[in-house]
Amino acid sequence: MPHAEVRVDLAAIRDNVAELAVRAAPAQVMAVVKGDAYGHGLVPSARAAQAGGAAWLGTATLAEALALRAAGVGGRVMAWLSAPGERWADALAADVDVSASAPWVVAEIAAAARETGRTARLHLKADTGMGRSGSPLADWPTLVDDALKARAEGLVEVVGLWSHLACADEPGHAANAQQLAAFRDAAALAESRGVRPEVRHLANSAATLTMRDAHFDLVRPGLATYGLSPVPQQAAPGDVGLRPAMSVRARLALVKRVPAGHGVSYGHLYVTDRESTLGLVPLGYADGVPRHASGGSAGPGAPVLIGGVTRRIAGRVCMDQFVVDLRDDDARAGDEVVLFGDAAAGEPTAQDWADACGTISYEIVARFAPRLPRVYVNGEL
Ligand SMILES: *Cc1c(COP(=O)(O)O)cnc(C)c1O
Repeated sequence: MPHAEVRVDLAAIRDNVAELAVRAAPAQVMAVVKGDAYGHGLVPSARAAQAGGAAWLGTATLAEALALRAAGVGGRVMAWLSAPGERWADALAADVDVSASAPWVVAEIAAAARETGRTARLHLKADTGMGRSGSPLADWPTLVDDALKARAEGLVEVVGLWSHLACADEPGHAANAQQLAAFRDAAALAESRGVRPEVRHLANSAATLTMRDAHFDLVRPGLATYGLSPVPQQAAPGDVGLRPAMSVRARLALVKRVPAGHGVSYGHLYVTDRESTLGLVPLGYADGVPRHASGGSAGPGAPVLIGGVTRRIAGRVCMDQFVVDLRDDDARAGDEVVLFGDAAAGEPTAQDWADACGTISYEIVARFAPRLPRVYVNGEL
């Protein structure tokens, strides 16, 4: 192993998707691979998800979808986030499904279809209560009618009707039932005007696991694809048949004995309470280790596993390194440090890190930067 690596178990991604496919059937699975596949690496993760049965791949940006195609990834690919002047012609040439939340987006896509002679596969997105993208319900009939006009000209096929949930990670939240009802109404309105969607889709990971009635024809799990729990207060990954695909590992760069009362790292946030052994880990916030993982007087740092013992980050996380107080552990330079991985292997988890940093496991895994090598294991798929 180099000084540090992000290890990604592709069989875990494959098996997680297979598990989600069983839960979702007869709905199909769109594995969401935006954000460099939540930090796991776009193309290898996409292929592993397809090996597990994902009929669709979902990305946020068109650039991500085009990168999949450039790598030779087939199957259905949908990109949902666009800005004015997007590379629509490239998207259509690459056979990428596209989305519109407003009439001007339909107009841009229709113009690209006219120029290129390729019919766009279009998904119409309703804002059923998320308050992010999606058409306001008041404007939905206009969006549907504009899309139908473009369809009549042979410029688009309206293949999808879709929306996104705001509170699916809180099962039983009143917004879930409201959004479900609003989505049914929006889909019914579009269908009453003549849209015959191939897929209606609403569910993210949390809804895939906890809201059967939100599955419709296609579910869009992201986090669960990578073996993390979208409802950590309710279920650990293993409870729902998932296993984490990512672990972050490093080697101790230096081990040294210091006296009691020794300040550690910037600002001396942490001071040794006795003579102790410090271990230096060559990873920092430029690699994706959150500075909020620091430990000191205000609270313990994030956990790491070294030599079978779980220790905590001592002092501030720096740009390229952090320190762990190893007490009297028998450690030496070169020993393996596991930041997080699989609880089943006794390793701290991305969720433990999220709890220590006041964030969600999504952000912990998605932050790990290209500076660190991604090492793929169990990839002979
Ligand atoms: C990110 C995203 C998803 C996946 O969400 P998870 O909570 O990771 O399952 C699904 N749909 C849309 C529109 C998204 O932006």
